[in-house]
Amino acid sequence: MPYSSGTRLPGEMASKLGHISVIESPWVQSLVEDFESAEFNSEEEATEIWQEFDANNILPLRNIWAVDGSFVAVKTSGKPQKEVSFVKTALLTVDRLKLEKIDKEHPHPLLMQDILRDSAIFHATVFPLKNVRTSLGSNYDAIRNIVNDSLKVDDNGVFYETLKWLSYRKWDTTEFNSPGFECPHCHFKNDKGLPFDADQGNCEDCDKPIFLTDMIGFHLDMDEDSAPDSVASAYMLVMEHLMLFTPIRLLWSHSDQNIISETLFIKDGPLTLRSQYSKLIPNIRAFIQHAKNIKRPLHIIGQEKSGAFFDHLASIVQTVAPHDRGEKLSFAPLTHDYVRRQVYRSPDLSNPYGKRTNWGEKLFVKIDPGTYMVLNVPTGIYVDDGSFPLATDLIGLDRILATLPEIVSSKFEGALFPVELANGVASMSSYPSAKILERFLDGR
Ligand SMILES: [Zn+2]
Repeated sequence: MPYSSGTRLPGEMASKLGHISVIESPWVQSLVEDFESAEFNSEEEATEIWQEFDANNILPLRNIWAVDGSFVAVKTSGKPQKEVSFVKTALLTVDRLKLEKIDKEHPHPLLMQDILRDSAIFHATVFPLKNVRTSLGSNYDAIRNIVNDSLKVDDNGVFYETLKWLSYRKWDTTEFNSPGFECPHCHFKNDKGLPFDADQGNCEDCDKPIFLTDMIGFHLDMDEDSAPDSVASAYMLVMEHLMLFTPIRLLWSHSDQNIISETLFIKDGPLTLRSQYSKLIPNIRAFIQHAKNIKRPLHIIGQEKSGAFFDHLASIVQTVAPHDRGEKLSFAPLTHDYVRRQVYRSPDLSNPYGKRTNWGEKLFVKIDPGTYMVLNVPTGIYVDDGSFPLATDLIGLDRILATLPEIVSSKFEGALFPVELANGVASMSSYPSAKILERFLDGR
């Protein structure tokens, strides 16, 4: 149901529903009443959780990496309708000191060129989704092999190396197996995973070859003959993760041990991998915890530009400081209880909030009266506690907050300039037009 976030809403909603007989249902009545009381509670709790940030003596981070991606499905008009999907992801690094010199509203093209020269890389691939035949095998096998090949081919396999690094926990001295996964041929669950450092192996049950890239689980979204759009969006999300962790992996073994902790890593979107793609999350969390333990903290943020958290923040942000320019930035870490009560309004405690699919906790930041954002910040291993996290649990929070005001875009509300740049590289504009792609498909 469409509604805007006003304080007068619940009453209006009830009266609008008054003529519908379903309002007689005790469940519906309870929904309307709870909606009203929850809205009321949020006013108090929502202001309470905010705190002022004192940036004195805190050094902003100097190096910045940002990652973003996009995908587009292209269909032909003929019958049967053919469909392919193009996926593109971009990784970009900028020096904050260079960024400072740029007018963020009207960036000078030559300065931009200077910033972007040799600093952006992108990865692109194409998936057959429907009615596209290859002579090598079914659509199902085509996608499995395209994933395996495109990860290995690009930039001399640097992203594939990152997949191995995360899968086998290569920062550790122990030689771990990969996470367990289901065989793409016979669907047997190979719980042991692949042995340390293997690129492929054979299924314990059917003995057919299985790739490390099968562990990611794209095949679970597909049929033998066709694949849904979600394969392309999932591939984009997985690639964004692998790209983000590539500079992290490389800086981790850099001779200057401090560089990694002087860097801000930004991912567009939440620090989340859903459903079968969440298999890498325990490893990601373990690495971040390890880095924290040995005092080489990582500064990572994910920015959510839409969704439940963004809507919630938008509905409360006018009640919290800063109300005027020049006032101090304020922020609010969201505890699991807060997320349940205020954002999801669901008391369901059967699943610990965010345990399986998230590798960051939620943070609201208000930089100035018109600039606010929903961020995700890692904490390390999952803590199953409703009052978690506190500000001190969010890794590197002070330095992250000190850096944000310096990289805010003045072009788009609440946007970060490095993400905007990465978005420019990852956007589909540099692909051939859909018309050309269609012709390409029809010609086959
Ligand atoms: Zn098998």
